[in-house]
Amino acid sequence: AKAEGRNAFQLYQPAMNARSLEHLALESALHRALERDELVLHFQPLVEIAGGRTVAAEALLRWRHPELGLVSPADFIPLAEETGLIVPIGEWVLRTACLQHRRWRELGHANLRMLVNISARQFRDDNLADLVARVVHETAMPAGLLTLELTESMLMENSSRGIDVLERLRRLGVRLALDDFGTGYSSLAYLKRFPIDELKIDRLFIRDIERNPEDAAIADAIVKLAHSLGLRVVAEGVESAAQLDILARHGCDLAQGYHFCRPVEAAQFPL
Ligand code: C2E
Ligand code: CA
Ligand code: CA
Ligand code: CA
Repeated sequence: AKAEGRNAFQLYQPAMNARSLEHLALESALHRALERDELVLHFQPLVEIAGGRTVAAEALLRWRHPELGLVSPADFIPLAEETGLIVPIGEWVLRTACLQHRRWRELGHANLRMLVNISARQFRDDNLADLVARVVHETAMPAGLLTLELTESMLMENSSRGIDVLERLRRLGVRLALDDFGTGYSSLAYLKRFPIDELKIDRLFIRDIERNPEDAAIADAIVKLAHSLGLRVVAEGVESAAQLDILARHGCDLAQGYHFCRPVEAAQFPL
């Protein structure tokens, strides 16, 4: 009776009730989203700064909720992480991206790269390398054209295990990128220990790059550091020609952002 009383008390706390009901409803809807085919991938081009060519596509997940409309990943990936749903969802993302890549290859885009985001929970899963191997095999994906995007915090969590997983992935032939670079606790010395191919400079440093000399200096330092370690550099969130100009002068390799193209459905992807 005492436990019941406590539950009843919790049930009638209005704010908590509303929030947890909302959470529950969203969780069960997300459970069904996969079966009901409500998840979709959009793709955003990565452009070579020097030549202006589109050389890669980043797959970005969206949820077409029947009532809420298009839900942004920022609004449901944390829940997917918390509930573990990110594992099957992440597998769906990887397979769907590889299948889309196959369609693009069939249309003659043989060298396009595909970038897929990996979440912390997926990275902690001991089956990640096996999963990637299986999906690459099943979809006939050329492993060298697949890049997995990870974040610094995932690697810092347990760096020796992290290096192990990265090396297993690397042996499959896939490439690895550090996403949102500069926002985590980046110990630069760590960088050389991780078998990484690419750094993506977070949008935070690009946004005010024209007006803020410190941001420009940080972007410049990241490019120099990356190049000295043999890594390629992508600038995220490039929204203007002026920003692109500065990045070009700093020798940044690739850029991605609304200046070129927003994330779009595969059919609208500018190839
Ligand atoms: P992210 O990986 O850093 O992706 C870049 C985000 O910046 C995307 O937001 C993209 O739409 C947005 N963006 C691109 N260019 C510009 C620009 O010029 N200006 C501005 N303001 N924004 C720009 P999106 O698609 O909402 O994704 C948000 C985050 O959700 C992603 O950040 C990523 O962390 C996560 N995410 C998206 N798809 C997946 C996925 O398939 N799996 C996992 N685990 N996470 C994903
Ligand atoms: Ca990303
Ligand atoms: Ca990013
Ligand atoms: Ca991010």
